[in-house]
Amino acid sequence: MSIAVRTSGDVAEALRRASGAVGDGARMVEWRIDALAGEPDDLATARSLLDRSPAPAIVTCRGRSEGGEFDGREEVRAALLEGLLSGDHPPRYLDLELSAWEGCEPLRTRITRALGETGGPPAATSLILSCHDFNSRPVDLLQRIETMTLEPRCAVVKVAWQARSLRDNLEAFDLLTERRKPMIVLCMGGFGLMSRVLAPKFGGLLTYAADRTGMETAPGQPTVADLRSLYGIDHVGPATSVYGVIGWPVDHSRGPAIHNAGFEAVGFDGLYLPLAVGPAYEHFKATVASLAGHRGLRFRGASVTIPHKENLLRFVGDAGGAVDPAARRIGAANTLVVADDGTPACFNTDAPAALASLCGAMGLDPSGLAGRQVAVLGAGGAARAVIEGLSGAGASVTVFNRTPRRGEALARELGVDAGDIGSMARRHFDVVVNCTPVGMSGGPAPDQSPLPSGAALDDTMTVFDTVYTPQRTPLIAQAEARGATVVTGRDMFLRQAAMQFELWTGKTAPLETFERAIGRQP
Ligand code: NAP
Repeated sequence: MSIAVRTSGDVAEALRRASGAVGDGARMVEWRIDALAGEPDDLATARSLLDRSPAPAIVTCRGRSEGGEFDGREEVRAALLEGLLSGDHPPRYLDLELSAWEGCEPLRTRITRALGETGGPPAATSLILSCHDFNSRPVDLLQRIETMTLEPRCAVVKVAWQARSLRDNLEAFDLLTERRKPMIVLCMGGFGLMSRVLAPKFGGLLTYAADRTGMETAPGQPTVADLRSLYGIDHVGPATSVYGVIGWPVDHSRGPAIHNAGFEAVGFDGLYLPLAVGPAYEHFKATVASLAGHRGLRFRGASVTIPHKENLLRFVGDAGGAVDPAARRIGAANTLVVADDGTPACFNTDAPAALASLCGAMGLDPSGLAGRQVAVLGAGGAARAVIEGLSGAGASVTVFNRTPRRGEALARELGVDAGDIGSMARRHFDVVVNCTPVGMSGGPAPDQSPLPSGAALDDTMTVFDTVYTPQRTPLIAQAEARGATVVTGRDMFLRQAAMQFELWTGKTAPLETFERAIGRQP
């Protein structure tokens, strides 16, 4: 856990934040004193942090050239660090950039002296030498690691760079696996979360996190609370299998909360992460092939969401893996399963989940849907899955879509009827299913119902809204007010997630745990 302190006035609040983070499970505190160095009473202020630090401390006074705030003279930094190392409560680690260590002989000499003789009694403070690149992967990364590894005073080698894609994390894991000294290897930015959460799997000495304020000292740091309770970092080890949600974007996915809670509840050694993959097929193919082909990672599957559901089908087909027949008929898959030898297979759990949700609410077996009149609003991916599930059970489906041509084409392809949305009000349906984003928070019409005005709605009907944020959409509220039976998108979402969980773990999904976990998210 990392906290920046700029003036003596920050100390009380910084200590309070550190204690909170330790209460959340942080085991060390990094005191970032970059901006403090050179301030009046900098040494006394920094010492007061170390005297009262609630956990063993790392002291870092990072220079501007490597993303820090210190831009003073090196004598100032040397005097401050020297003073801390000789105080009553020296830090457990001192972190210094390799560039400063190599580039400033007086700094190196003074720090070397303060650290104590090599070969003498174990020093209170060990040196972390570090390199950071906030733009990209340094071209001479391997050379820098070699230099730090060979430096006798360096106890820990640390490198951090801005990840350009998920694949950078794999190099971080390889570097950790091949380490000859204790190492910290982290990828920064939105693509770097994997390296931060999976560091213990590959023997990384530390990972850095923010406290509950979310104030990061480097881009992409999760909070201590998320590391522990959302990602279960304490249980991550070499045998942990890795899963995730692949999409673009994926930041707001509820998958990590649900699946990680599920893994813990059934005692399965797995970890589920958000995996952002750029929208093109080439991004998807390159990333999934690299993850599945990485030997130490144990990448065993993923939920796949917009815009990659068609890409998954194509990828598995190209790789010669098994494609479940429903996914082939729908033309999209939402679940990737990777075998121990790296072979991929794909499934669509949206269709059976939609069928199970509807039958559950109506108190029917799937065969009870035969001949029921069903109106499906929308002609996108969700509509395809819903139509596959319901017409497969014998329901009589009519598609209504804003763009009639698209609705007609889908109906032809799946062997169902299409109707003009204006005519919907003249017919009675047993079931209406919304497969448009109308009513979704953050969507095109969050406050609206997708039903055309005048459409029949009564207590003989069942209304199913696949939109799951919010749980109670305008359509669900409208249907409840008319006494209709309702089915929420949240019910379908949990069922499709449970089916994925069972494909990956071979265990029955703990539905109550899933419900609690989804409730925890906004
Ligand atoms: P999609 O492929 O983009 O299709 C969207 C469909 O909605 C299209 O037919 C589009 O009509 C129609 N549409 C979009 N905006 C509209 C508007 N303002 N008024 C009327 N129609 C509109 O999207 P999708 O993947 O099918 O997802 C649709 C919804 O399903 C999402 O909101 C998602 O939350 C939900 N979903 C839920 C689950 C679950 O597990 N509960 C799973 C998957 C999806 P045009 O053809 O005219 O553009």
